Amino acid sequence: MTDSAEHRRLVIVGSGIAGLSAAIYAARSNNNPLVLEGPEPGGQLTLTTDVANYPGFPEGIGGPELINEMKAQAEQFGTEIDHGVVDDVEPGRPHRIELRDGTVYTADAIISASGASARTLGVPGEDELMGYGVSTCATCDGAFFRGEDMLVVGGGDAACEEAAFLTKFADTVYVAHRREEFRAEDYWTDRLDEFEAEGAVEIMRNTELLEIFGSADEGVDRVELARNPGGYPTEKLDDPETERFEMDVGAVFMAIGHTPNTGYLEGTGVELDAAGYLETAGGDGGNQTETGVEGIFGAGDVVDHHYQQAITAGGMGAKAAIDADGYLEEVARPEAADPAAADD
Ligand code: NAP
Repeated sequence: MTDSAEHRRLVIVGSGIAGLSAAIYAARSNNNPLVLEGPEPGGQLTLTTDVANYPGFPEGIGGPELINEMKAQAEQFGTEIDHGVVDDVEPGRPHRIELRDGTVYTADAIISASGASARTLGVPGEDELMGYGVSTCATCDGAFFRGEDMLVVGGGDAACEEAAFLTKFADTVYVAHRREEFRAEDYWTDRLDEFEAEGAVEIMRNTELLEIFGSADEGVDRVELARNPGGYPTEKLDDPETERFEMDVGAVFMAIGHTPNTGYLEGTGVELDAAGYLETAGGDGGNQTETGVEGIFGAGDVVDHHYQQAITAGGMGAKAAIDADGYLEEVARPEAADPAAADD
């Protein structure tokens, strides 16, 4: 099968803002990047109706539109963009990349920009109203629901941070967490307590979301929740202590964590941190985006679970392209590659 493997100087896995920013830089450095678009083409930004904090767009710009402009910019400099879900990477000189459909590429360098997918609950109404009042990003979408009551689901740092952020816009921010204790650091729970004392936040412990009601035209109208003093109420809907109730809210923010998309890197030797995100060198100076495996670089939300902003993911993509260019210049000259590695 590898006899027909097409060789590429640089393959970028992921077509979100990190991957496309890397592609713009890599194409301009004559590294002929191939961007492989995975199952979420354009990445998380395509879930956002309006991006108001991306520099250069004072009137804001739609998430899908921003991604399309970046694609056009990357293609204009010679990037090739193709659909392809990467199943497996075997590191080497060159690296071997196998796609789910059986296609095989070899590449001198890889930039992993495969992002992280926001987890969702799977409750009725969630899919239909995503982008119409249901969101996985308070920073992106909070301002659109100014003056409304809002619901945040989750009990980690992200839920608390999002709730704190939403107090700028919301009438009241309700935080529904499925158990009594918050997972978030004391810093965040203390801040929520302060907001609750001021009346800006209401914390609903041992509470889970059952359903979201509304329409694409009118947005979110109300939600149904369940509460049980022992926590995890959805597992105890028949328990007489479980109370089901409805609430009017204008927006629902899911903050129940992200899952970094790293499955295809298993077995490569690329290290992951405790939360499953790609480990890169980081720090000051060059090569911040290199992983522990030569010629594999990481950028964007697959690496970063802290900043998680379009602009920071884009910046990291640019860094990865510059690091990969340095690597390709120094290490992966054609005579350095071992074609035999692609033949087994
Ligand atoms: P997280 O720490 O994994 O928290 C996810 C929260 O969602 C948990 O409270 C969890 O409940 C809840 N949850 C998960 N699945 C659920 C479900 N099916 N139904 C209801 N609730 C559910 O994720 P995160 O808050 O996104 O944070 C991810 C990482 O980024 C962490 O390392 C965090 O420290 C970091 N981060 C830091 C900051 C900051 O410091 N500024 C901000 C954001 C994120 P349980 O607690 O019951 O499991």
